Amino acid sequence: MIYQRNLNFAQEQDEQDALRHLRSEFLFPRHNNQAAIYLCGNSLGLQPHSAKHYIQQQLNYWEHYAVEGWFNGEAPWLSYHKQLLPVLAGLLGTSEKEITVMNSLTINLHLLMVSFYKPDHKRYKIIMEAGAFPSDQYAVESQVRFHGFNPKDAIIEVSPRPGEVTLHTQDIIEAIEDNADETALVLFSGINYYTGQLFDMQAITKAGHKAGALVGFDLAHAAGNVALKLHDWDADFACWCSYKYLNSGPGGISGVFVHEKHFDNPKLNRFAGWWGYRRDKQFLMQQGFDPEMGAQGWSVSTSPIILMAMHKASLDIFEKAGGIKPLRAKGDQLTAYLEFLINDINRECGEEIFRIITPKNISERGSQLSVICARDAKAIFNYLAENGIIGDWREPDVIRLSPVPLYNSFTDVYQAAECLLKAVSSS
Ligand SMILES: *Cc1c(COP(=O)(O)O)cnc(C)c1O
Repeated sequence: MIYQRNLNFAQEQDEQDALRHLRSEFLFPRHNNQAAIYLCGNSLGLQPHSAKHYIQQQLNYWEHYAVEGWFNGEAPWLSYHKQLLPVLAGLLGTSEKEITVMNSLTINLHLLMVSFYKPDHKRYKIIMEAGAFPSDQYAVESQVRFHGFNPKDAIIEVSPRPGEVTLHTQDIIEAIEDNADETALVLFSGINYYTGQLFDMQAITKAGHKAGALVGFDLAHAAGNVALKLHDWDADFACWCSYKYLNSGPGGISGVFVHEKHFDNPKLNRFAGWWGYRRDKQFLMQQGFDPEMGAQGWSVSTSPIILMAMHKASLDIFEKAGGIKPLRAKGDQLTAYLEFLINDINRECGEEIFRIITPKNISERGSQLSVICARDAKAIFNYLAENGIIGDWREPDVIRLSPVPLYNSFTDVYQAAECLLKAVSSS
């Protein structure tokens, strides 16, 4: 498409957007009595209007049924999570049996590493991207130490080439091949939180398996953002949070994927709890853990129903949208438009004030662009915030902007970019 930097063009794109009605399903924070321009769905997705109603409904069941709510009502709590699975399975490219929702993300990463990081003295290394989200770094380090290994030796980080910011798939594969005999686990994010780079998960999985390692992904920035095919890619496990692109509320419930090929592997360790017990026998309260077949067998504790209700409010909107395919198509357009506008502003300024470090190739990114400001970065970010443009800041000099196809418009993107230009002139 040929883009233009003017308001008319942006408004025309919005009129032609078949998903534009979905914007009204969300609540926008206010700035000076107007809806703010929210480009921060990579950090905290907006609240669906319906979330209050979904929560209220569960409060009503609690009021009217009390403990009977586990078995009674339209959607008894005991199996409430099952309603979430069809839409999630579509977003993640899995069967319903291969996923469940539970806990929060870092906890799930630990639980999955209990099962899928099984180092011995020959194979004990974990290969991951340099600059992974800090929580993942801490989780991995502490797992390595827990097994008696030294993180300095056991964690191999794949770094960008000198002078570059993002990774080459080839370099990831080479790192795996170079450590093939010693690698127990390859653990990558789906999309790096800082650069917005979407990794080739299929290629990484294939290389990891060829080396004899297991392969898992943290999809915090990928779930609900880009199309995923976890089952077909043959990933061993994955986890994600629901409060970023999945709009399910601050601290919202996390999800996990376990490939079906691991369902009946008795050698897998797991930290068990009664919520992962065989459903048909859970309430016999017997000795000896007998897991439910599938990802649900990794569940530990009683379902947090209110969190699940918030999750359902958002997933129902994903269903209305027709799933990830039309959303990603619009997301690619919005992101490309933002990229075009930023480059056009650089052209107008006669210098590259804003350097986009997210890959240009749309198969290597989702909705987020990470932008490094050549000067006055913090002042520019503050100017945006003062003018009702909400992005987010990552030290030392990156502004992350994410136009989300569920609720952002071309006009949002246009106005944010114009504000960037004004920020430069005023700083
Ligand atoms: C957002 C994010 C987290 C946050 O984990 P919580 O346990 O939900 O606090 C972890 N890892 C990655 C890659 C993230 O992007």
